[in-house]
Amino acid sequence: IDWNSNRDKEVNVQVLVRCRPLSDDEQKANVAKAISCNENRREVTVTNKQGDRVFTFDKVFGPKAQQRSIYDQAIYPIVNEVLEGYNCTVFAYGQTGTGKTYTMEGGMNNKGGELPAEAGVIPRAVRHIFDVLEAQNADYSMKVTFLELYNEEITDLLAPEDLTKFPEDRQKKPVSLLEDGRGCVIVRGLEEEVVYSANEIFDLLERGAARRRTADTLLNKHSSRSHSIFSITVHMKETTVGDEELIKCGKLNLVDLAGSENILRSGAREGRAREAGEINKSLLTLGRVINALVEHSLHIPYRDSKLTRLLRDSLGGKTKTCIIATISPTANSLEETLSTLDYAYRAK
Ligand code: ADP
Ligand code: MG
Repeated sequence: IDWNSNRDKEVNVQVLVRCRPLSDDEQKANVAKAISCNENRREVTVTNKQGDRVFTFDKVFGPKAQQRSIYDQAIYPIVNEVLEGYNCTVFAYGQTGTGKTYTMEGGMNNKGGELPAEAGVIPRAVRHIFDVLEAQNADYSMKVTFLELYNEEITDLLAPEDLTKFPEDRQKKPVSLLEDGRGCVIVRGLEEEVVYSANEIFDLLERGAARRRTADTLLNKHSSRSHSIFSITVHMKETTVGDEELIKCGKLNLVDLAGSENILRSGAREGRAREAGEINKSLLTLGRVINALVEHSLHIPYRDSKLTRLLRDSLGGKTKTCIIATISPTANSLEETLSTLDYAYRAK
């Protein structure tokens, strides 16, 4: 793919679909399937009473697809762009229980040696970035942030905690979003960790992920309603022929979105859902921003949610975005699956 030739003209949004396998319980219960994937034709077929509906995407990964092939085929070129000095974002979008966290994090509990086969996008991207920079003997520095957005409030997953307080009061520094007057967003109070090795990043990731798990045990549905954003910023020093020094800066955002069931469309239910706080403003706005970008609209509603404000410098313009839409193969998730596929299809 020659990304460069059309970088200035086109919006670079790549949309792929991943269908998870049936779980052991589903297999035992002989749960009916409603989805079939054709990877070569890049098609997902949804079968229901009315017949088949076929969706085509940039890439399709069926239930047997390995973590590694998703990385190599879809994410590897994006991370190379980051190393060239661009800002890129990978989103996992889909109903709760369809594999967003598995796809983004997967199994990460291994250090030093080979990545386990279940390692997801984040550990693979971390390893890839360090491998390239070390092979080039590059002069670089790297920073990592890890935050969570819940009910339009930001929690810094890497901030020091005051363990003497109740979990909800443990964060010492409030995190707030400010604008610098030139349209740039500043996240005030966010911990930026300078890192020197992949293992250090894995430790931070584990620390942040453990915090999300704690939040989950304290509040039912926490992880299905919250977004997490793991960002890596790399500054790379380049020496050009004329002995002039240049710094390239690239940023990679890896976003595990709230469950797509948090977007309720049906008119009758919307009023009640809104009262219950079930409509996720950031998820809704992200969809609108991506639609506006792919349709080349003049107005991109970045300002309408915290998620899109946070990611503003990495969405649109000279950036690359990948949406991994995750779906379940079962017939009883059909409605949610269709709504995920529709959302993903509109982002193309
Ligand atoms: P989500 O983050 O979308 O709520 P999870 O990533 O937690 O979903 O996945 C739900 C369950 O399904 C987990 O037990 C996970 O390990 C399993 N799972 C999801 N996708 C796959 C896959 N492609 N292969 C094997 N297991 C998967
Ligand atoms: Mg999850």
